[in-house]
Amino acid sequence: MLFTSAVPNPAHRALARLEEEGKLKAVITQNIDGLHQMAGSREVLELHGSVHRNYCTRCGEFYDLDYVAQSEGVPHCSCGGVIKPDVVLYEEGLDDRTLRKSVAYISHADMLIIGGTSLVVYPAAGLIDYYRGNKLVLINKGATSRDSQADLVISDSIGEVLGTVTGVNL
Ligand SMILES: [Zn+2]
Repeated sequence: MLFTSAVPNPAHRALARLEEEGKLKAVITQNIDGLHQMAGSREVLELHGSVHRNYCTRCGEFYDLDYVAQSEGVPHCSCGGVIKPDVVLYEEGLDDRTLRKSVAYISHADMLIIGGTSLVVYPAAGLIDYYRGNKLVLINKGATSRDSQADLVISDSIGEVLGTVTGVNL
C-alpha cells in the first residue's frame, strides 16, 4: 500500500487551485495517500484515513510514513507496541467525525463533483444521497451506478477533465 514516491496528478492540482480560488469548499476522498494535501488542498476529508498518520497501539506515539516504510515486517514502537496506520482496514467502520463532516458539506453543497470512482464502495458511495442540489457532476472513465441520477456525466479521466478546465494542464 505504500508508494512513498507518488506525486500529485493534474486532478489533485486542479482541486487545490479551485479551493485557492474560493470555488471549492472541501475534498472528500477515499484515497489514503495524502496527495491532495501535497498538492495544496487544505480541507480534505479522508474517509479511509491516511498512511501519513501512524500510531503505537500501546502508548499512542505518532510515527510518520518513512518510519513505517523503513521498518522490516510489522513496525514496532520503541515501547514494544505495534504501530498501526490510521487507515480504515477491511471490515472496520469509517471514522464518525469525518463521515459527519462529509455529510454536512455534501448536504449544503451547490454543486457536487464526483470523480475517479465507479461508486461501488459503501458507505462512501452512499454519501451521494445526501446531496440535495441540481448540479450533480460525475466524471469517470467508465460508467457508474449513478449515471442516470447525474445532471452531467463526463466519461473521461478526472485528471484530464479537471486539469483542462482549471488550466493546470496547460
Ligand atoms: Zn509505543
